[in-house]
Amino acid sequence: MEHITESNSYNWDKLRTDYNPVATDYMYIMNCSKEDTFKLSEGNLTPYGNIQISPFAGILNYGQGLFEGLKAYRGEDNEIRLFRPELNALRMQKGAERLCMPSPSVDQFLDALKQTVLANKRWVPPPGKGSMYLRPLLMGSGPTLGPGPAPEYTFLIYACPVGNYVKAGSVNFLIEENVHRAVRGGTGNVKSISNYSPVFKSSCDAKAKGFSDVLFLDADTGKYLEEGPTCNIFIAKGNLISTPALNGNILAGNTRRSILEIAADNGYQVEERLITVEELLDADEAFCTGTAIVVTPISSVTYRGKRVEYRTKGATTFKKLCEILVGIQTGAIEDKKGWTVKIA
Ligand SMILES: *Cc1c(COP(=O)(O)O)cnc(C)c1O
Repeated sequence: MEHITESNSYNWDKLRTDYNPVATDYMYIMNCSKEDTFKLSEGNLTPYGNIQISPFAGILNYGQGLFEGLKAYRGEDNEIRLFRPELNALRMQKGAERLCMPSPSVDQFLDALKQTVLANKRWVPPPGKGSMYLRPLLMGSGPTLGPGPAPEYTFLIYACPVGNYVKAGSVNFLIEENVHRAVRGGTGNVKSISNYSPVFKSSCDAKAKGFSDVLFLDADTGKYLEEGPTCNIFIAKGNLISTPALNGNILAGNTRRSILEIAADNGYQVEERLITVEELLDADEAFCTGTAIVVTPISSVTYRGKRVEYRTKGATTFKKLCEILVGIQTGAIEDKKGWTVKIA
């Protein structure tokens, strides 16, 4: 893990695109008991460092935990902005309900984010060099021996500068037919920590074969496209932009939602619906969205040994949508929707 002490002389150009941990100055912590929930809690900034946790902690034993992810962007005007952070707060509340955890109020969540960004301000990269990734965690931190909700909870936010782009500029996906990330009635639609390590093997195997990652299909029929391990998927054909509908298995990405709105505002026809593998293979363009990956074109998809390529160059749809999204996030395009929150 990289420990940087001098951000003034930090070479922002070497910020990697692969999300390496970098220790920043402060993290935010707020605790509560099961009874008090977070109603009476006040959190604090503390110097960034390791945390102590009971070996009996609910999160360690039973995976009672959620994460969130969003970024602070420094604009050419030197203002620092968050993008739709209330959506992250609400998503954490929904996930907390699913996992029997209390959760911070939207105000507590936003206040904690602002404090974390301000305290680590010097780690928000200059315009064009990247952004500061913020990782809120909510976990059952109290001891429990039997499987069940923990008696105490911890809300924590840490921050880490990250680079801008996917190294290759595009991604090539393998369609995974044997493993599913989500099942009907499961937790695919919340950012439960338990959703991620079960698909590491699929991703690692695909990467070993030269793919960027895998795409998952629905577990019921194996016919319909769902999403990637941490990104939503879109296809474009002519003027029509489509993405799989939120069916309870798919994570409702904030980037997904924003791209749907931006596309509709810009004269595209947008649809959220079932998308078959055949339709994916027949699209003009395909792209994936997420806070980390932003809007990244898919150069190819491989299904049952057949590789299909998509348009990634020239006047593409994904590029146009991505430029508008990033423009709003960084303040280069006027935010008429009230999506950005300036950090004073
Ligand atoms: C976080 C995540 C996304 C993207 O959500 P954003 O809010 O756009 O960052 C998509 N799919 C999965 C499975 C995720 O965990």
